[in-house]
Amino acid sequence: MYTCPECGYAAEENGKCPACDVTMVRSDEGEAEKQNGEEENL
Ligand SMILES: [Zn+2]
Repeated sequence: MYTCPECGYAAEENGKCPACDVTMVRSDEGEAEKQNGEEENL
């Protein structure tokens, strides 16, 4: 997944954001930002 650092636009493939015309950056899916392994319980 790639996201635009400007507006947060997300795309599956790397490229430029159609709105900002800036190179999108890769977002690591496996990054350990979530401290809790517990998901939201709805
Ligand atoms: Zn953008």
